[in-house]
Amino acid sequence: MAMTKDNVEMIHGYLDAITDIHLEELIKIASQPSVSAQNIGVEECCAMLMEMFTKIGMKTQILESPTKPAVFAELKSKQENVPTVLFYGHYDVQPAEPLELWNTEPFKPTVIGDKLYGRGVADNKGQFMAHVMAVQSYMEVLGDVPVNVKFILDGEEESGSPSLPWIAEHYRDLLQADIMYVSDGSMYSDIIPQISYGNRGILSFDIDITTAETDNHSGNKGGVIENAAWQMVKLLSTMVDEDGHATIEGFYDTITPISPAQQKMIEELEFDPATLCKLYGVKKLKYDDKVEFYRHLMFLPTLTINGITSGYGGDGSKTIIPCHAKAKIDIRLVQGQKGLDIYEKVKRHVEKVDPTAVLSEYSVMEMSVTEPSLPIIMKVREAVEKAYGVKPVNMPLMGGSLPNYVFTDILNMPTISVPYGNPDENNHAPNENFKLSCYFSGIHATAQVLYELGTLAAE
Ligand SMILES: [Zn+2]
Repeated sequence: MAMTKDNVEMIHGYLDAITDIHLEELIKIASQPSVSAQNIGVEECCAMLMEMFTKIGMKTQILESPTKPAVFAELKSKQENVPTVLFYGHYDVQPAEPLELWNTEPFKPTVIGDKLYGRGVADNKGQFMAHVMAVQSYMEVLGDVPVNVKFILDGEEESGSPSLPWIAEHYRDLLQADIMYVSDGSMYSDIIPQISYGNRGILSFDIDITTAETDNHSGNKGGVIENAAWQMVKLLSTMVDEDGHATIEGFYDTITPISPAQQKMIEELEFDPATLCKLYGVKKLKYDDKVEFYRHLMFLPTLTINGITSGYGGDGSKTIIPCHAKAKIDIRLVQGQKGLDIYEKVKRHVEKVDPTAVLSEYSVMEMSVTEPSLPIIMKVREAVEKAYGVKPVNMPLMGGSLPNYVFTDILNMPTISVPYGNPDENNHAPNENFKLSCYFSGIHATAQVLYELGTLAAE
């Protein structure tokens, strides 16, 4: 029997009745330290989660990797022909230091007022627990879930998820799903959700120029030898035009156009330059026009000098000709761009302009994009709107970078990000917190998403 509206209403009622238990369960998981960077408690937390999933009736497996293991859990729906949703989350947390700035003990989660305080309560334990609690409630009330459910909980997201691509390649079949759903970060406000459908990638490398074995006297040798600092400035200045757009051959060639659904989302976004200027601490933005602003923030790549080091920058004077200059560069990649291709284009440019300049090895996190008008994505959007009773803010892409490409590009599944945290959750900082109402509304949201996705096959 297919699940009905009455079924999901029953679940919502049940959820409202057992919020104490939901809170208890989160406190239990958040009491277990699991700091990947310091190698504290990660294995213990892993074991705890395996036990929790097993209790719900899920099949679990530890996904070993070259670094830290991920936790996998799976539950098959008794409904026939229903989609599979893969929830991604991470059970590791940021280090709690500096401890003296906490008002409570980081690993003794404590309710003060309308919030739960503790390391990891929002980033990300509380958010994936919202999914777990929704699944658990379906099982307790109906003995079934509307769709097939899978979880992958990363054990080293806070250390940059070094093995996530490896895990995706090696457990490809296990992880197969129709959609990946992640809740991390914060909502638009405590009551208005924000959905995003992708993010820019990031390509980083250094450029080094060496003109002599040592710094030289700017008088005794001034005028007769090269200066590494000037050479770097000249090289960098050939890489962008007046507006800061890259002048590297082929840089923009592979970019795919903004889709109609993405365009519509941009037009619906709010844009208040005065507030943004205040937030960024700047006098003016480069673009006053809303569409241009968001186009440059989401759909156009950047070429950023993160830092330049050369010669002497201290007090007083030091009359030298610097022998070495280094520039650190990052490029935010957009839809259609691949890290290696752009790196090679930059390398060709640099070799042509200044053959003495040396590009370092690069590191890359590819961009990730999901078309917002896909039927399965539209279903989730609908479910989120119903659950919160308000239209979500839709961000076609995030300007920053996340490893979501692992799901869209390696595992070929649409990916949607629906954060459940309050905007002042203080993640990564002392006094991290999760507003209880946000935790509970997140559980409702997941319950609704599971139900709506279950109607997809029936249509
Ligand atoms: Zn984090």
